[in-house]
Amino acid sequence: MRNHYLIDAYIGLGSNLQNPHAQVTHALVQLKQLENCSLHSFSSLYSSRPMGPPDQPAYINAVAWLKTRLDASTLLKKLQSIENEHGRTRLGEHWGPRTLDLDILVYGNYKLKSQALSVPHPGIKYREFVLYPLREVNKNLMIPGVGVVHRIQPRCYPNGLIRLPI
Ligand code: ATP
Ligand code: CA
Ligand code: CA
Ligand code: CA
Repeated sequence: MRNHYLIDAYIGLGSNLQNPHAQVTHALVQLKQLENCSLHSFSSLYSSRPMGPPDQPAYINAVAWLKTRLDASTLLKKLQSIENEHGRTRLGEHWGPRTLDLDILVYGNYKLKSQALSVPHPGIKYREFVLYPLREVNKNLMIPGVGVVHRIQPRCYPNGLIRLPI
């Protein structure tokens, strides 16, 4: 389904398997090529400590700002097919290692809560690897029901997050 107007959508990217740097960089190219979307901007890449099971490699993370006419559930399906193209397997433990994870962080001013799709993403305000790159792309972003990025980000402990040189 297509909207008649453009929605600002923010996507969180993460990878910790099979050359994470290349996985994330390629995913940014694929986001750029998505139909009914344009890639407005994207953050630096960051190295972060794994959330959940600690016995897994470090992650590479980034955030992308899309302008899209896709409705939220169509956008999610497109993101999941990009994950699948990266060989993402959906077996195994919660927050376990993955080749590519694409989360919808924010979709316009929508507030949606279902098992298939919750936006704003419920983890945003606790996750340094989301808030620091999100601040880089839009520090004035108002996250519905949460607050403005530049006010929330300083409350989030950096937890060893490293912004990688370009
Ligand atoms: P988390 O969502 O806590 O970051 P995760 O990314 O590891 O965990 P996944 O296994 O990738 O979780 O996704 C599980 C399900 O979450 C997906 O099948 C999807 O339907 C659902 N989901 C709910 N809200 C969102 C969202 N905002 N973005 C992406 N997927 C979402
Ligand atoms: Ca495009
Ligand atoms: Ca995730
Ligand atoms: Ca996910």
